[in-house]
Amino acid sequence: MPHRPDGERNQTQVSLSALEHYAYCPRQCGLILLEDAFADDAATTRGTLLHQQVDTPGNRGRGSIRTLHALPVWHDGYGLTGICDTVEIHASGRILPIEHKSGRYHPGGPADVQAAAQAICLEEMFSRPVPEAAIYSAADRRRHPVLVDEALRTRVLEVTHAVRTLNTTERLPAPAADGRCRRCSMATGCMPKLLAGTRRYRQALTDLYLLDDLEDTDA
Ligand code: SF4
Repeated sequence: MPHRPDGERNQTQVSLSALEHYAYCPRQCGLILLEDAFADDAATTRGTLLHQQVDTPGNRGRGSIRTLHALPVWHDGYGLTGICDTVEIHASGRILPIEHKSGRYHPGGPADVQAAAQAICLEEMFSRPVPEAAIYSAADRRRHPVLVDEALRTRVLEVTHAVRTLNTTERLPAPAADGRCRRCSMATGCMPKLLAGTRRYRQALTDLYLLDDLEDTDA
């Protein structure tokens, strides 16, 4: 297990969904956490409808596998908290969290961070190794395995620390203004190109949000 970053104990809880948002775009996470600016688009609505199917708490058995839905999970040491869409408990002792996504699966993408964080929480709760998670993509109706290796565990902790810092400093990250914005439900409110490319806006944002690193993100 990677070392716990200094000072993570007894600090604000970080939600597993925030990890995914931050891993996708730090500014997206900042808009949601600091400005309560979550916006729905077709993709998020599809995701919401999908989650409604799996977010009813329950406990079902199928052969040697018990399936838990909408299971609250946490890790006190890392200050993580969230809900697993689905967790399979196998008779062999294997525990497998499965995160449901409406869109396509992108290997190594933000969903991997969220799924790995679920695995880390389950390890703490069940005192048992959880070396693998899975992403179910409704787009291709397939389950994609995620290996929860040391590199991914370290990434989870780094993102956790970054989200906590974002919450503490309340500094809105600079816009990405790249290909991510085309698939982002926050693009209308974020105005990434405008904000990244207009000197007047940059100055205004610098004053408002103490954004001092916009120079590095010009598209
Ligand atoms: S529109 Fe782009 S910069 Fe803005 S939150 Fe989305 S991905 Fe980030």
